[in-house]
Amino acid sequence: MSELRYNYLWDTWSVIAPERERRPHDYPVHAYMSTVPPEKCPFEPGKERITPHEIFAIREPGTEPDSPGWKVRVIPNKYPALRIEAPPERKGTCIYDRVGGFGAHEIVIETPDHYKTFYNFSQKEVELVLTTYRERIKSLSGDKRISYILVFKNYGRDAGASISHSHSQIIATPQIPEKVERVIEQSRRYYATKRRCYLCDEINLELNLMDRIVYENEEIVVYCPFASLFPFQMRITPKRHRASFQESTDEEIKLIADALRQALKRLYKALVNPPYNFFIHTKPPERERADRPNYFKGMESFFHWYIEIIPRISIPAGFEFGSGYYINPTSPETAAKFLREVVL
Ligand SMILES: [Zn+2]
Ligand SMILES: [Zn+2]
Repeated sequence: MSELRYNYLWDTWSVIAPERERRPHDYPVHAYMSTVPPEKCPFEPGKERITPHEIFAIREPGTEPDSPGWKVRVIPNKYPALRIEAPPERKGTCIYDRVGGFGAHEIVIETPDHYKTFYNFSQKEVELVLTTYRERIKSLSGDKRISYILVFKNYGRDAGASISHSHSQIIATPQIPEKVERVIEQSRRYYATKRRCYLCDEINLELNLMDRIVYENEEIVVYCPFASLFPFQMRITPKRHRASFQESTDEEIKLIADALRQALKRLYKALVNPPYNFFIHTKPPERERADRPNYFKGMESFFHWYIEIIPRISIPAGFEFGSGYYINPTSPETAAKFLREVVL
């Protein structure tokens, strides 16, 4: 029997379909990356002059911006979806609303090494990438025109990556994206009746049951959510209540890096280099909202940051687009067991 499961945080349903049960080797989708050699790659050290000027970098001491010596480098996207120069004005024609394409679109080049990625990064390399995310979210939060900063990664052509050199992206928007708003509203609603944070409760329950846990360290837990919409979907979140990823201390960054590295190495082994996306949902910077007074009241208590990893091994189709429900052919219990038991 298949089973519909309610995904509380995202306010949608997943259809766990065990009679279509698929195990890791039933997903022959591997991350195909272009075989562009380093000589033709725009993100190589020594080619800093052909990219836009860097916004931020973690560098060897004594090295100059836009020169080699960086470990992580952030540049504006050459073909941005949104631009910081465009005015964030709202215009309307009858029923159609428009806002100028205002925002920021940045590329985080995660490593100078053309052939490395999260699957073979060292602990230290993952820490530097997460530190970069933290610093960029903090810095962009200072721009009052920006209401949300979304960090995400596309790995593999099937997950939307067009350049193979390991990178992630940051898009800052003048409004809070709909999915984030939904998570905020669901968390607010739960807190209003229970006076507890939803994700804190979810983590406590999962750590008691243990059947969907993939990995844990002192501070961070990795698990396959109860109503996973996608096969091998994973959530990474702090065990102690934390609203903002960007407020993580250096010590916490180390433990988040350990958990993220474990999750992605396990995914690599279990599914043989699958394409994937991940994103961070964190508390937005506080802004006055004429439409919603008190919008941020209590958010520090009811919102809990998390990273979601979505392997791109199943293709959402007509049913998913039409219903907003997702058919997931691998139960999160089966997925967690594989990911937990994989030999690294
Ligand atoms: Zn490269
Ligand atoms: Zn919490």
